[in-house]
Amino acid sequence: MLEGQNYIGYQVSKRGQEKFRTFNPQLNTENETDFYEATSAEVTEAVVLANEAFTVFSETSNAQRAIFLNAIADEILQLDNTLIELYCSETGLPEGRAMGERGRTMNQLRSFAKLVEEGSYVEAVIDTEEPTRTPVPKPDLRKMMIPLGPVVVFGASNFPLAYSAAGGDTASALAAGCPVIVKGHPMHAGTSSLVAEAILRAAKKTHMPNGVFSHLNSSGHEVGAALVQHPLVKAVGFTGSLRGGRALLDIAAGREQPIPVFAEMGSINPVVLLPEILKEQHAKWAKTIAQSVTLGSGQFCTNPGLLVGIKSDDLEQFTTELATEIIGIAPTSMIHPRIFEAYEANKSKMDEQPETIKIAAYEDKAKANYGRQSVLKVPAAAFIENSNLHQEVFGPFSLLIECENLEELEKVVMHIEGQLTASILGTKEELNGYDYIIRTLRERVGRLIFNGVPTGVEVCQAMQHGGPYPASTDSRFTAVGVDAIKRWIRPVSYQNCPDELLPPALKNANPLDIFRTVDGTRTKSKL
Ligand code: NAP
Repeated sequence: MLEGQNYIGYQVSKRGQEKFRTFNPQLNTENETDFYEATSAEVTEAVVLANEAFTVFSETSNAQRAIFLNAIADEILQLDNTLIELYCSETGLPEGRAMGERGRTMNQLRSFAKLVEEGSYVEAVIDTEEPTRTPVPKPDLRKMMIPLGPVVVFGASNFPLAYSAAGGDTASALAAGCPVIVKGHPMHAGTSSLVAEAILRAAKKTHMPNGVFSHLNSSGHEVGAALVQHPLVKAVGFTGSLRGGRALLDIAAGREQPIPVFAEMGSINPVVLLPEILKEQHAKWAKTIAQSVTLGSGQFCTNPGLLVGIKSDDLEQFTTELATEIIGIAPTSMIHPRIFEAYEANKSKMDEQPETIKIAAYEDKAKANYGRQSVLKVPAAAFIENSNLHQEVFGPFSLLIECENLEELEKVVMHIEGQLTASILGTKEELNGYDYIIRTLRERVGRLIFNGVPTGVEVCQAMQHGGPYPASTDSRFTAVGVDAIKRWIRPVSYQNCPDELLPPALKNANPLDIFRTVDGTRTKSKL
């Protein structure tokens, strides 16, 4: 039974006075468990313990960490319906979504296990010595990646499993050898706690040091801010609003020793509709886009919040069909009244902007906390001038930009800020004529999609989920896929180090049998 406590390594703790509860958006009532807000003493204990654990955990073998990650996946599966039911009661999301997200979470854990077990992720590079080189001899230099230290992870409201306690940030940091302190998201504190218990059971069973994982409750900003400020914390992972991510980035930059914050924030994921494809396939794309905008009540970071096309009869036809399609979709529950209220407020703000025209709005009565979809249209010139129209409306909303001509389309694309994705819809022939648009979009995004909608993020190594600011705080890294581990490791070089003192990844005999770059050649050979 959940008791609302904090998990400080293997200890449970509820010493705070402040309590909060989660909410069932489907029933429109509070759930029963009281969660105890972590105190500043509990924050300090979790960080100090994580720092102590780092000494041992960073030296665990790749095989040990792989066993640990697989054990977490097994423990999560063991939670069975208890987890699924709690997830649904704290989010209002359907059971199918809960099960799908659980599957994704376990796959993420297992793919990081596979990555570390193989071992080449440490990017070992060996440049052998040249003692006879003139005028100065060349030293023996060997470089590899090592873990950063304790990492703080903020649970994401919109992914209670895949981007929360055992989500991608936690899995990648543990894989790297970094202890993790999760600041659970208050909207699904129970789900997050159940998963935290599963992680701790896996840690005990696989003999991981106390402090390798901690989980703290909080419904305010103090706990998160204190964690980011703590001098023993070495990096931060976050998914959420631009305001939240930016606040944490500023806190981290203001520390005596600044640390990286890998925040994945707002994105409106523009979709550019080229003329020829609209002529041929307006009905198909109207249906596909309507489904993508409303998927999961629009609560995905890849929701298509901006549609851009050139004025024509075909765009007109597409607009009419989009309106019909989107109104025909039944609204669904949003994950929390706070998210629902923010959606309603941001939608109204958009409505109030000069020159916006409503092209579709679900106006029938819907249940409490159900997100009613809406699409507005605005002339390109207004979009270019008015930055309010560039803001994310988190929910089932999209804004259609109508351009007078190609020149205006190019201007609109030039004015788009950093995004996770951009999509371009065009026939095979016409895509060849829009090189400038494609290049301009590429400058602004992490993922460029041809003839597809942005929702549906494949979890694989070639995926890039991150983009230029404000989509994320560091466009060089991804939050999805095994390359996410690169956020928690840093390079270190050994110069003229005796073989017996080198870490296994750099030893002459290559005992881990990993790929290494030796004098410019990628190989598994011994030296
Ligand atoms: P949020 O407000 O950004 O909060 C995310 C997490 O960061 C929470 O744990 C929050 O703590 C913490 N936090 C926020 N501001 C902070 C600050 N100044 N100092 C310390 N900690 C801070 O996101 P949310 O609660 O998930 O949802 C709110 C809005 O974020 C949504 O309506 C939506 O617009 C946006 N959002 C966007 C995405 C996306 O992928 N683009 C995903 C999720 C949410 P507390 O909750 O305890 O305050």
